[in-house]
Amino acid sequence: MATWVVVDQKDGKVKKASLEIISEAKKAGEVAAVVFGPESVAADVAKYGADKVYVIEADVYPVDQLAAMIEAEKPATVLFAHTMLGREMASRLAQKLGLGLATDAIGMDLAAGEFKRSVYGGKVIATVKVTTSPVMGTIRPGVFEANENPAAGTVEKPAAVDTPANVYQTVKGFEAAVSARPDLTEAGVIVSAGRGAKGPDGVALVESLADMMGAAVGGSRAAVDAGWMSHDLQVGQTGKTVNPNLYIACGISGAIQHLAGMSASKYVATINTDEEAPIFAITDFGVVGDMFKVIPALKDALKK
Ligand SMILES: Cc1cc2nc3c(=O)[nH]c(=O)nc-3n(C[C@H](O)[C@H](O)[C@H](O)COP(=O)(O)OP(=O)(O)OC[C@H]3O[C@@H](n4cnc5c(N)ncnc54)[C@H](O)[C@@H]3O)c2cc1C
Repeated sequence: MATWVVVDQKDGKVKKASLEIISEAKKAGEVAAVVFGPESVAADVAKYGADKVYVIEADVYPVDQLAAMIEAEKPATVLFAHTMLGREMASRLAQKLGLGLATDAIGMDLAAGEFKRSVYGGKVIATVKVTTSPVMGTIRPGVFEANENPAAGTVEKPAAVDTPANVYQTVKGFEAAVSARPDLTEAGVIVSAGRGAKGPDGVALVESLADMMGAAVGGSRAAVDAGWMSHDLQVGQTGKTVNPNLYIACGISGAIQHLAGMSASKYVATINTDEEAPIFAITDFGVVGDMFKVIPALKDALKK
């Protein structure tokens, strides 16, 4: 019995989080991707290991239709990315089918129907077993790698299922947040600001470095709670999980809740005045110094 991954896509572009789940699930056996959107998405998901792609051309995500497909095909497991869309759809589906659901998982054992979840502020990793069938879970973005593993995937259009449309809500449209910078969860390079940025001017300095590098901007909860940055830029346990090639932490101490969101980064560079700051324990390139001096020097060096 296959694992189904319900793909989060927007305007035909698949979220990396969905590809990460497909890549990981493929290690355990057969994977089918379920796409609500254009057929063009099928080729992308097959590249990451989907053996079968169900394409349902729809503008919205019809929970009723997905529930009917699950009852007809009986997959062993149904997974979603723990994105806004995945969270909403998975919880509605679990409620509709009367199923257990493990949310925001950071690890999974598909054969056992078990998920790892970080609880009590990241101090404990709980193993949660879902005992209903299919097993359902949402997976935190960034915890697995998306690796190309092409499968000769077949594309199927499921038979039209006669179900009432979801009458509880209709989506009238989406308004994109306007930002010229890359998305945090997809970025190859992230420059992040913490309390050490001391205010909006320090954050602007961090942003100027990010823009020079074509990087995304992130922040610690301290910087976000102070109102210097918007909440959607928070990295960490209660923010976003990221796994860029390079994460540059400016004025961030490295609290466990921050590390929970970025310690999967390939390389970590740190600028911090305190050589004892915990973030140095996971730092590959570190500068003990004042970010208000180090960042301008770094920008000058980059210009050259
Ligand atoms: C349930 C829970 C969930 C949480 N979730 C998150 C989360 O998702 N993300 C998150 O980030 N935090 C989270 N936190 C908060 C976390 O515990 C820390 O309080 C927070 O990460 C600290 O942010 P910071 O490193 O920017 O600030 P601080 O810990 O105050 O560190 C500031 C750092 O800046 C350095 N510094 C000061 N001046 C300069 C300078 N001029 N140049 C260079 N360095 C300088 C200092 O040496 C220090 O290391 C959570 C906490 C709880 C309890």
